[in-house]
Amino acid sequence: MARIVMKFGGTSVADLERIRTAAARVKREVEAGRQVAVVVSAMAGVTNQLVDWVRQLDPLHDAREYDAVVATGEQVTSGLMAIALQAIGVPARSWAGWQLPIHTDAMHGKARITGIERAAIDARFAQGMVAVVAGFQGIGPDNRITTLGRGGSDTSAVAVAAAIGAERCDIYTDVDGVYTADPRIVERAQKLERISYEEMFELASLGSKVLQPRSVEIAMNHRVRLAVLSSFKDVPGTLICNEDEIVEHHVVSGIAHARDEAKITVVKVADRPGIAASLFGPLADAGINVDMIVQNISPDGSSTDMTFTIGRADLDRALVVLNNARDEIGFTELRPDNKVAKVSVVGVGMRSHAGVALTMFRTLAAERINIQLITTSEIKVSVLIDEKYLELAVRALHTAYGLDG
Ligand code: ADP
Ligand code: ASP
Ligand code: MG
Repeated sequence: MARIVMKFGGTSVADLERIRTAAARVKREVEAGRQVAVVVSAMAGVTNQLVDWVRQLDPLHDAREYDAVVATGEQVTSGLMAIALQAIGVPARSWAGWQLPIHTDAMHGKARITGIERAAIDARFAQGMVAVVAGFQGIGPDNRITTLGRGGSDTSAVAVAAAIGAERCDIYTDVDGVYTADPRIVERAQKLERISYEEMFELASLGSKVLQPRSVEIAMNHRVRLAVLSSFKDVPGTLICNEDEIVEHHVVSGIAHARDEAKITVVKVADRPGIAASLFGPLADAGINVDMIVQNISPDGSSTDMTFTIGRADLDRALVVLNNARDEIGFTELRPDNKVAKVSVVGVGMRSHAGVALTMFRTLAAERINIQLITTSEIKVSVLIDEKYLELAVRALHTAYGLDG
């Protein structure tokens, strides 16, 4: 019997009516003869509220307790979904992450799945039942609840699909597919029929929150056929697949943006070997990921400024960590800026086409948008700009690369 995973995001389970609509979709797949595992997010807005309560009590909160709080949203929807299914005659049972269990590493707040025990799902499938799994959560080696980072239900869904050998993992959300840019910003964005795992991974990593990056990585490594679909409309979505399954290629496939960025300039650090390690070591120990980095040349041969970006949510903690290590690093001042945003252009076509970055720089220059930092890789170019020009930049680039529909 064919197995599939259906994942419903926050807006798709935002109220009881929508949970009923989602349950009806599940019923259709069951009636078509499929064994279905359903993965659910928290109801729209719930996780934000929970995170906000934690931060209000203590911006530097204990990550274990953060997880204990924010994982609760998905427990509610998993139970509600099972009840909604039962109410329409579909036998169903729900599990929280720790019950299955979904094992993760110990990185509370952004844990990675290390293994899923599938026996309980197999047993319920054998009894003709639907398995409903709370997304976004697992259990760590310390025997405590962990969460997988914002948007983590996508990753739960793909990991469950890989674990049970599902033939498809369908991500139901409030857009009907992956677009050339966020359709909320670019009205003329176009839906992609297919996109390669690699490009989707880049777009997701660079801020296109339609999928959590880790979910794309797992799908790519375990060859899970992943689709993004609308939970409101019956229209074809986007298939995330191998590059060789895609006929038409553009130099740039999509534009991603990330608002949740922050920049720190460390003023007057010594210009000597080991300084980067002394600066980024304590941040890594605190679980803070550093993204873009520039170090200026040293005008006096002895000291220089170092600028880097991190997630905005980590800014307060990063400042505390760096100030605690101040004697060891040696700097005169930290200059934080949380009014920055990152815009990126992504496409496998860049491997064989020159001038992609230049088009980006010229387009931004024509709009008089200053570029603060630049990073590139084989298939992407990213720039950091003032947050207030973000939408203008994304739209201008979308037009410049010929993506407007
Ligand atoms: P869910 O709650 O279902 O997980 P998310 O809000 O996490 O939904 O992700 C869906 C949102 O992703 C869309 O509403 C859209 O605004 C945003 N998005 C960003 N970039 C893109 C893109 N390139 N294509 C489609 N949606 C995108
Ligand atoms: N509810 C979690 C969040 O808002 C996980 C998810 O929706 O994927 O980040
Ligand atoms: Mg999401």
